[in-house]
Amino acid sequence: MNILDKLNSSLARAFIKDFDNTDNKNVRVQHGLLAGWVSIVAILLLFIVKMVLGIMAGSISVVANAFHLLSHLVNSVILVVSFRLTARPATAKTPFGHGRMEHVAPLIMAIFLFISGLRIGETSIHQALDPHDVHYWPALPWILFATIVAKQALARFVRFLGKRVNSHAIIINAAHHNIEAVISLTVIAGLVAGHYFHHPEVDGYIGILVSLWLLYLGFTHGREAIIPLLGEAPSREMLEKIRETAKSSEGVEDVHEITVHNYGSLYMITMHVEIPEKYGPAEMHEIAENCEWKLRKKFGGEVVCHTDPLMEKTSEVIAIEDKFKKVLTSFPEVMDYHDFRIVAASQEKIVLVADIDVKEDVSESEFEKIAKDLETRSMQEIPNIIYCRYYITPKFAY
Ligand SMILES: [Zn+2]
Ligand SMILES: [Zn+2]
Repeated sequence: MNILDKLNSSLARAFIKDFDNTDNKNVRVQHGLLAGWVSIVAILLLFIVKMVLGIMAGSISVVANAFHLLSHLVNSVILVVSFRLTARPATAKTPFGHGRMEHVAPLIMAIFLFISGLRIGETSIHQALDPHDVHYWPALPWILFATIVAKQALARFVRFLGKRVNSHAIIINAAHHNIEAVISLTVIAGLVAGHYFHHPEVDGYIGILVSLWLLYLGFTHGREAIIPLLGEAPSREMLEKIRETAKSSEGVEDVHEITVHNYGSLYMITMHVEIPEKYGPAEMHEIAENCEWKLRKKFGGEVVCHTDPLMEKTSEVIAIEDKFKKVLTSFPEVMDYHDFRIVAASQEKIVLVADIDVKEDVSESEFEKIAKDLETRSMQEIPNIIYCRYYITPKFAY
């Protein structure tokens, strides 16, 4: 442990109860809250210092730099909100818990960042085209430099807390603090160069650069916050884990059409489980229920398993399925199929049923046409079909 870590450690110990018990959930939450609150207070202080300096010097790049600090405020607010609010239990009015609050705070901050980027950009363009003198004084770059040192100390402290409880959210927050140093150095360089070479418009150009960065941050933070509110796709790893867990249940041969709703603090998962038809309805229900229990225990929240009977494959079924597979080969957008069933409508007459998976980039608007074309081709190639019922798996099911 070096001197800085010792300093950080004694500082954190003063605020966190039961400091050494890092495996405890509550101690972990306290680490996150401390990292968040210290960041928020420090950033607000630095923001005030930079705003005052920027206004006193009449420098738009310093003002832009101050607003850039607010983007780090976004990350710190997320940290506090996610550690505090999201842990609150569900109520009658919010039965899915408060997990998605994590995305509401940054959305508001992102809109704010975007608007400040526009306003500062406008002022910067004026300064670049029609420059007024920046009121430069020798201490100005040094005070600004001191804010970088303060920010680095903050980054060290936050990273120290993050490493202790191994929290990715906290460690990322520390990394964001480091980016700030680069932008501040650019602003200082611009101020010094503008003053000594008598080009006050440099201040405007640097202001434009920083405001473009603000617009970019506002846009990306906003997009990141909106996607999970709309409902995001589950990760490949998550889907793989769900499949593995379900298939480890006795009687479950395979699963398909997995849908996942992520509420932050709980999951709602539905899927189709394929169970051999020999089991009969009561036993199938038992198998599905078992599978649900396993998944609930692993992921938390609610899991519903719809049962699909796997037909016993007689030679007749295999012959028809082979023909069906052959039809599919002329549909390059089709990836896979499941729930293939043959329903006898009357003697010698059949209805063909299947669920079709199409490639990721196929638009939903083409689904109906693909199903229709597939039916037409099937009726040409396979004898005795009255009609087909093809269902294209929706985009949210995997
Ligand atoms: Zn199914
Ligand atoms: Zn049941």
